[in-house]
Amino acid sequence: MVQEYGLFINGKWQKSEGKRFETRNPATGEVLATFPMATAAEVNRAVKAAKDAFESWRQTPAPRRGEILLEAAHILRRRKEELGRIVTSEMGKVIAEGRGDVQEAIDFYTYAAGEGRRMFGETVPSELPNKMCMTVRLPVGPVGLITPWNFPVAIPGWKSGAALIAGCPIVFKPSSLTPWCAASFVECLDEAGFPPGVVNMLTGSGSVVGDGIVAHPDIRAVSFTGGVDTGRHVYESAAKKMIKVGLELGGKNAIIAMDDANVELLMDGVMFGAFGTAGQRCTATSRLIVHEKVYDQVVDELVGRAEKLRIGNPIDEKTDMGPVASPDQEKKVLEYIEIGKKEGDRLLTGGKKLTGGAYDKGFFIQPTVFAVDRKKRLAQEEIFGPVLSVLKAKDYEDAAAIANSVVYGLSSSIYTNDLRWAFRAMQDLEAGITYVNAPTIGAEVQLPFGGTKETGPTDTREAGTTALEEFTYWKTVYVDYSGRLQRAQIDTAKLVGG
Ligand code: NDP
Repeated sequence: MVQEYGLFINGKWQKSEGKRFETRNPATGEVLATFPMATAAEVNRAVKAAKDAFESWRQTPAPRRGEILLEAAHILRRRKEELGRIVTSEMGKVIAEGRGDVQEAIDFYTYAAGEGRRMFGETVPSELPNKMCMTVRLPVGPVGLITPWNFPVAIPGWKSGAALIAGCPIVFKPSSLTPWCAASFVECLDEAGFPPGVVNMLTGSGSVVGDGIVAHPDIRAVSFTGGVDTGRHVYESAAKKMIKVGLELGGKNAIIAMDDANVELLMDGVMFGAFGTAGQRCTATSRLIVHEKVYDQVVDELVGRAEKLRIGNPIDEKTDMGPVASPDQEKKVLEYIEIGKKEGDRLLTGGKKLTGGAYDKGFFIQPTVFAVDRKKRLAQEEIFGPVLSVLKAKDYEDAAAIANSVVYGLSSSIYTNDLRWAFRAMQDLEAGITYVNAPTIGAEVQLPFGGTKETGPTDTREAGTTALEEFTYWKTVYVDYSGRLQRAQIDTAKLVGG
């Protein structure tokens, strides 16, 4: 018997009028649970619950809100192993990464709980005597969170933690590939004691639930992570309503390997960055740009390493790489492999779907490496799978130009022992994140996360202190305690300026 979930609205799990869909293990094909496709009327109910909860949630002191977040962090920690296994079963990342996915949510909830006692504004001197000026952050209102499948607990954790500590009730729509992860996460929030209506979760289609949330007049901000095309659509729809929108879209992240790089360290980083989560991280290393002096050595070692990876059921602790997350992902990745071959890219290793035995039940693709020219599609487009494009560069300038030649700007990295190149990369690479001597993945929750160019056109940043910006607006407050009308310089320039 697979478990049947409902919708979480106004503090209760509720039956839905909508049809049901099932979620499957991408490694084994096993059906895991079933979920409702929420209807438009149910979207309205969830938004109403969030709207009704807003007044008392925003009035709840932020330190008290923080206590509930901290409780949620404790519950997540208690259920970490169980949730980690759910992540691995439903999404297909290896079990160590499944646990890591949950750990991100624990870490961010812990961090955000502390933010309840900070949420700093500024006090600023006034031009006038007996007058005080300050800024405070205020919540925008009920918000929509639309999340992808690749970090099915971590990303909901980041978005919801920031919204909830800011004082915004949430209407959360997870990816239809990973609703079990989302429902298990919401169970933890429910147990933590958020008041009814503060947390709402709707499963269902992007077109009914996703669009419905974004377009609803009472939703005052939307935070979205996913593909560029969907992100563009969400951006347009939010712009029509003139609301805040945070977008975290794709990437085509590059590691630059300079001729003085520690090749052993580089290889460890490239394997982790390119094939961790089967390449399905928005920060995955999708390009390796190698200085021509070390190109042949790097390519040889890379191929050797890629061929040693153990591909299999991700729940097995010994597996290095699991399946891709869905038949659509498999199709897309295999199409890109064909594109590479047709465009004349040199296949260095991999390039095939794995078949036979247990592989036949899942979506397994060999770790794949292509030698690619800089203008080719494999050098430019996001693949979101275990496919790495290797490019040759003449020198640092050439490598940086290649790195910046894509429409995305999320993560970047340079391996070098020369400070000149490290510091140049920090300033030259067009990306929201630059790592030095570490791969393009590995974000920590206390720092801002996000990108530039088509990755992050709204220039918002999740995590870190900047996380609050998606869900709050600034108010400037002037308190005049002089007991008389005082005019600021704008109205009395001649008194001050002569
Ligand atoms: P989508 O962008 O389609 O999905 C992301 C989220 O948006 C899901 O919750 C989805 O719901 C929802 N959604 C879909 N349509 C709408 C809509 N009209 N309005 C509002 N929300 C909507 O990504 P996919 O899962 O289809 O993956 C496609 C590609 O996107 C990947 O191959 C990858 O390139 C990229 N991607 C990037 C990610 C990142 O981290 N930046 C994460 C995931 C994907 P539903 O699941 O019900 O369709």
